Amino acid sequence: MSECKYKRVMLKLSGEALAGANGFGIDFNVALRIATEIKELVDMGVEVGAVVGAGNIWRGRQGEDMDRTTADYMGMLGTCINALALQDSLESLGVMTRVQSAIEMKEVAEPFIRRRAMRHLEKGRVVIFAAGTGNPYFSTDTAAALRAAEIEADVILLAKKVDGVYDKDPHKHDDAVKFDTLSHLEVLEKGLQVMDSTASSLCKDNNIPIIVFALDEPGNIKKAITGEKIGTIVS
Ligand code: UDP
Repeated sequence: MSECKYKRVMLKLSGEALAGANGFGIDFNVALRIATEIKELVDMGVEVGAVVGAGNIWRGRQGEDMDRTTADYMGMLGTCINALALQDSLESLGVMTRVQSAIEMKEVAEPFIRRRAMRHLEKGRVVIFAAGTGNPYFSTDTAAALRAAEIEADVILLAKKVDGVYDKDPHKHDDAVKFDTLSHLEVLEKGLQVMDSTASSLCKDNNIPIIVFALDEPGNIKKAITGEKIGTIVS
């Protein structure tokens, strides 16, 4: 436990993180790899909350000709599918979990009840927060920031495809420069693509640090919580 810098963490995985190479749906080999990394944290005594997106299934903005609210509810339901997939992978490794949903579906998941979530965390259960915030016009980044504040997480681990925050898109610009550290204010002022502005503001207002790192590199989640220098730290 002594090597852990953080006691309680919120892990944010985009839906695409579960998709594997084809970019769509769920690749259970990938889910199992992520679950293995989460298990390492649990075994070290770290309390883990997780929010999963739904970009591998559906994002509200894809429904261009749809009613936006309906399209967003579809996205929120997509996060529930991903949450159950992650739950299954974790439980196959013997990790105790609970899924708590912001939209009531009591046959499938517990409703989100903050005090109950805290108790699960204290008992070493991984709590997967599904259905985002339960409200349209928000993102799962905002759900991660909100739940992190509510469960008093020490840090948000923001697992991405890129290995940190850059001044411009590193896939398009060879001269893109990576930031080692940033303040929340700099992220907002420079309009950097860390989280959307609602989520970034929540983190800033509630002093929640964010570590942005690449999920593709095995071992990165553990490195992030032991304070090894990876990715970008926003604090
Ligand atoms: N969503 C929503 N409210 C929330 C969280 C998510 O309406 O509180 C919807 C929204 O349509 C979003 C989709 O769910 O596009 C999937 O979430 P997100 O785009 O954040 O997934 P990610 O990009 O992390 O895979």
